[in-house]
Amino acid sequence: EQTIPSDAEIARNATNRPIEEVVAPLGLEPADLETYGDHVAKLSPETTARLTDRERDARYVLVTGMTPTPRGEGKTVTNVGLAQAFDRLGKTAVAAVREPSLGPVFGIKGGAAGGGYSQVLPMEDINLHFTGDLHAITSAHNLISATLDNHVHQGNDAGIDVTEVVWPRAIDANDRALRETVVGLGGSTNGPPREDGFVLTAASELMAVLCLADGVADLKERIGRIVVAYDADDEPVTVDDLGVTGAVAVLLKDAFQPNVVGTIEGTPAFVHGGPFANIAHGTNSIVADAVGGALADYVVTEAGFGADLGAEKFFDIVAPAADIEPAAATLVVSVRALKYHGKDMWPVEFDDLEGQDVDAVRAGFENLDRHVSVLRKYGVPVVVAVNRFPGDTDEEVDAILEHCREDLGVRAAESTVYRDGGEGGIGLAKAVDAAVADHDGEFAPLYDRDAPVEEKIRTVATEVYGADGVTITSDARDDLERLERVDLERAPVCLSKTPYSFSDDPSKNGAPEGWELTVRELRPSAGAGFVVALTGDVLTMPGLPSEPAALEMDLEADGTVTGLF
Ligand code: ADP
Ligand code: MG
Repeated sequence: EQTIPSDAEIARNATNRPIEEVVAPLGLEPADLETYGDHVAKLSPETTARLTDRERDARYVLVTGMTPTPRGEGKTVTNVGLAQAFDRLGKTAVAAVREPSLGPVFGIKGGAAGGGYSQVLPMEDINLHFTGDLHAITSAHNLISATLDNHVHQGNDAGIDVTEVVWPRAIDANDRALRETVVGLGGSTNGPPREDGFVLTAASELMAVLCLADGVADLKERIGRIVVAYDADDEPVTVDDLGVTGAVAVLLKDAFQPNVVGTIEGTPAFVHGGPFANIAHGTNSIVADAVGGALADYVVTEAGFGADLGAEKFFDIVAPAADIEPAAATLVVSVRALKYHGKDMWPVEFDDLEGQDVDAVRAGFENLDRHVSVLRKYGVPVVVAVNRFPGDTDEEVDAILEHCREDLGVRAAESTVYRDGGEGGIGLAKAVDAAVADHDGEFAPLYDRDAPVEEKIRTVATEVYGADGVTITSDARDDLERLERVDLERAPVCLSKTPYSFSDDPSKNGAPEGWELTVRELRPSAGAGFVVALTGDVLTMPGLPSEPAALEMDLEADGTVTGLF
């Protein structure tokens, strides 16, 4: 078995073409770009605006996955690799992926810019400060926080109830010590004191806003609507009420423009926006999707976590907001995740998933099957991509392919894009094309756009998660009544649930049955335009593990970074 060099080594040895050359096949000229060095650019505001309004003829291929293990089963790798494969087949293709957050980069080992021979470059920059978008969002977020506390300090004209502030502070670091804090200590010159907390920048509502806005006017409208607190009469106080909508938009001016880079094979990739996939919708910006769709034959894009969370949100929230009709869904599965579902263990012991075990793989099919049936409900053709990892055997991979083709009647292909780049995804790309050509259904979101929030939650819980029903706690009932005050009683719902099970209990693997989904809280995200339904403890500020990835990293005298993947 051949060994594959580390992501960093592969990236370092790759020839990275100038960005002007990378985007030329899309018909973009140097004047359309604002470059950040030789290999990274943002589209100019004029170009973004012009292309967002243009007809989109592209096929949108959503890359989603089965229920993952905490290490990830390769959606980003497949996303990048599949775009490279379409490119090799002579199509114009773009990959659209999320911007990594510094929190996980320094926490968990492994990058978020793809891997092996299916990465976006320059991988180090993309994983670090890149074009500064996340920093801009952090600054804009905290400008709202500072203005809010100042407003209270200066006399509180809006009558903000300091016990009902719902706008936390934000930072792009995994720092559990900041989850709950007190601000305003030190007497009346600093105060009044109040409880506060931090979320990771990816969890900021501004991130969701940036990713869902279709232009600057919409961006400003969404910022202005964000609810930051309630007053003594329980009426919402918004960013517009604080008077800083314009200033926040100014801070997001450049961050709003999509970033474009090249993959390791020179396929153009939009890397823009990175919202959480639980308390937000978990996909890159719709501006990047729109621009890609105006320029390319294929836009390959990824939704976070498994299809229950990511694809559901892409189909029910993002596609309608972006006016996108997805052409196909690619469901990424791995031998190790199937084995995990076929054994009974939580937390996952990765050592126990090594070595050939076809029976354990088969025992995991019930998870795969349920994801396929969920995706079919949306009327899109489904293609299973078996993402081959180094230790996987032919027997294991063949068992999966056979099950998909014979038992489920879905197209399936092995993908070796990690090891082989686009060449390793040709079979998958052809299977996607064939699935689109054969398909006679039509894409439709699962729920009626105007249905009440509670009905939407029930639809997702029963149709997607496989729950028998929904229990809404009395606190959540109160929240439900409050939604009318912010005009969100019929908004789309963004369900926040553990990614490690179809159910709300991460220890239930496979395809759990005979359970009810408990909704504990409903949070209006008026700027994003959805209601977040919380079903368990939500992690909006992750912590660092006992051996953070940061411990491995260093900078050499010549500027070389070591230990970053
Ligand atoms: P996801 O997007 O589904 O979370 P990623 O594509 O980011 O998953 O992959 C998760 C991790 O696994 C990354 O570090 C990636 O480089 C690695 N990886 C993915 N596919 C393979 C593969 N086929 N072989 C080896 N490593 C892989
Ligand atoms: Mg990913």
